[in-house]
Amino acid sequence: PRDLYQPQRQNSRGIEFGERAALDGLISAVAAQTGSVMAAPLIDGKTGTGAPRPVASPIDPAISVGTVVDATPEQANDAVAAARKGFASWSRTPAETRARILERTAELLEENAAHFIALLQREGGKTLDDALSEVREAADFCRYYAAEGKRLFGAGDAMPGPTGESNVLLLRGRGAFVAISPWNFPLAIFTGQITAALMAGNTVVAKPAEQTPLIAAEAIRLLHEAGVPTSVLHLVPGDGTIGAALTAHPDIAGVVFTGSTEVARSINRTLAAKDGPIVPLIAETGGINAMIVDATALPEQVADDVVTSAFRSAGQRCSALRLLFVQDDVADRMIEMIAGAASELALGDPRELATHIGPVIDTEAKQRLESHIARMKREARVHFEGIAPPGHYVAPHIFELADAGQLTEEVFGPILHVVRYRAENLDRVLQSIERTGYGLTLGIHSRIDDTIEGVIDHLSVGNVYVNRNMIGAVVGVQPFGGHGLSGTGPKAGGPHYLTRFATEQTVTINT
Ligand code: GLU
Repeated sequence: PRDLYQPQRQNSRGIEFGERAALDGLISAVAAQTGSVMAAPLIDGKTGTGAPRPVASPIDPAISVGTVVDATPEQANDAVAAARKGFASWSRTPAETRARILERTAELLEENAAHFIALLQREGGKTLDDALSEVREAADFCRYYAAEGKRLFGAGDAMPGPTGESNVLLLRGRGAFVAISPWNFPLAIFTGQITAALMAGNTVVAKPAEQTPLIAAEAIRLLHEAGVPTSVLHLVPGDGTIGAALTAHPDIAGVVFTGSTEVARSINRTLAAKDGPIVPLIAETGGINAMIVDATALPEQVADDVVTSAFRSAGQRCSALRLLFVQDDVADRMIEMIAGAASELALGDPRELATHIGPVIDTEAKQRLESHIARMKREARVHFEGIAPPGHYVAPHIFELADAGQLTEEVFGPILHVVRYRAENLDRVLQSIERTGYGLTLGIHSRIDDTIEGVIDHLSVGNVYVNRNMIGAVVGVQPFGGHGLSGTGPKAGGPHYLTRFATEQTVTINT
């Protein structure tokens, strides 16, 4: 393979958790961030007015993290008009300049890490570990796309041609891009979508998840401070009606979306129903992600990786493990060890350092998960049931299914479904995984090369993890994204991502 290592770029380091002084420093810096945050539509640098609504914390709905003024559909339209206007100058701004602004954004994110960690905890319910990783990931996206953008959006690629003719292939921005992002990575995915679109020369209207507008507003503030012109980047907080208004707008040039398959489909339909140019959709959705564990796997490692993949971040990652296939010879022992490891997990206030699993995002999420748990208790064998504190907490659960087909939809929480298989029936396991229709992440624990290669070869999934956990893709190291019901394929944090935000132009000059 080609080596796409970028020697000039490094991933964000964060702090070493083992260094007590650094950790204590971070914890007290985070604890000092108690101020209330305000978010509102920001169009062309002007703040929209309206009735503010309090943003409640998933940790305890009584904690108000701040307030948000949601945008109106008219404001969404104004934002698209403003982004369209801003495109003329931004698309002509040299890639070097755009890259420098993103590099500055990364620095500002790191300088303000404590502020963002505090918000990720209070507004997003994240543990310190997850929140710090997320700030680093956001900074990584900025630096990665800056480095890639300089490579891709410079003077273009000279193409071979007949004598007397010069041929150059150029990449350019498309226009006003709509970025719709999820609450589960309210900083990293929000920033990643925006910086990719900007680096490719587009202007952006950003619509964050309605649950996490405050982190979004703070990230926008930083991007502007770093030098993104206010005519280029606009914020419209709100619910799905605002997303719908944006995607239905006749003047948008592209949509980047992360969220549910159902919403991706509805965006796709909206885009397809419009007259005028055909507008591309870059979508990253969910998965019914599987892991296959055969009898040669190392049990301790499997237990650790399964618990990390299924339960960390309260299972609220689209990469998380949902369906575990275990070879029957070792299944009893594996399940016992996994349940043992799960019982060690501490649930509670994510601001406590000892907490492994924080709350789920809101009441609706909790209710959906609880009704799934109730169904599983009727239809499956219960192997483990954790204890959740009161509030928006859902305890880890392990259920054994007689058939993988009993899991018909993505369950976005700390619930693991186990299915036993016989070695000679591995092909049926692969068929079950295929039948889900998703293709995001896949885990394999095996020491047999033929098995590993056979599985990888057979299944079409975006990210395969062998003999390790299957979450936490690193920018520029594990480009992330899937196919089928899991998305349209582009991989965030990978070398082809920016091209999906661009148009290509070939210039042929008869010399
Ligand atoms: N990139 C994240 C990971 O690898 C998941 C992103 C998501 O949940 O949307 O765990």
